Amino acid sequence: MAQRPYIVGNWKMNGTRAMLSEARAIDRAAQRNMKVEVALAPPYTLIHAVHREVEQIGVGAQDCHPGEDGPHTGDVSATMLADAGAKFVILGHSERRQDHGESNELIRQKAESALAAGMRVIMCCGESDATRQSGKAEKFVLGQLRASLPVMDDASERLTVAYEPIWAIGTGKTATVADVVEMHTAIRGLLVELFGAEHGPEIRILYGGSVKPDNARDLLGAAEVGGALVGGASLTADSFMGIALAAGELPES
Ligand code: PEP
Repeated sequence: MAQRPYIVGNWKMNGTRAMLSEARAIDRAAQRNMKVEVALAPPYTLIHAVHREVEQIGVGAQDCHPGEDGPHTGDVSATMLADAGAKFVILGHSERRQDHGESNELIRQKAESALAAGMRVIMCCGESDATRQSGKAEKFVLGQLRASLPVMDDASERLTVAYEPIWAIGTGKTATVADVVEMHTAIRGLLVELFGAEHGPEIRILYGGSVKPDNARDLLGAAEVGGALVGGASLTADSFMGIALAAGELPES
């Protein structure tokens, strides 16, 4: 059976309780658009509140610590996130790689911890502008994924990959549809190699990087694009659900 498009909002370091009304509006709209799977990753401080306010959408986190508990001031474990109502965690986002120096190895440990806690994982990857200009984008992205994807039994069932070229995040620039298809096809090849011909094709590959309601249809309709990871445009229900609406209007593949 064809999977529903997966549209995930990443609120990053945005949102106070005043934004709960947006989460409620997103949830109501998602209930009217069941052809699309909608999810939201608010900051840690809002996970439990959003979880309590919504009925339809998935609620997740933007990071987790690889350990279960212990002396790690300021960190939050996957077990704690699951307890707060998170069902998935975004890992390996380029902003965490840049701001916190996260390595592929650390990201893989976080992913294994999240899966062990029963959560789903959205694993991000993506090249810088310099890497793309050098013609090495595909090699770089596949290398990132090879080193950061969790290698555990049944990992593939709860895994999503998000391809997010760094130069497209928050810049208003998007990759061309042809470039997205080329990269997603290469990622699909790697997923089949790592998870086998049965499970590799089932893992959704999202595109992220300045997705907006007006470019969503072209990007989401492209081959091997299973949805979108959305930053800026997920902060209001209007723009976020504009993207989800475009996803819901795509012909079923
Ligand atoms: C992101 O950071 O995951 C992202 C895709 O951001 P934006 O949509 O704002 O480019």
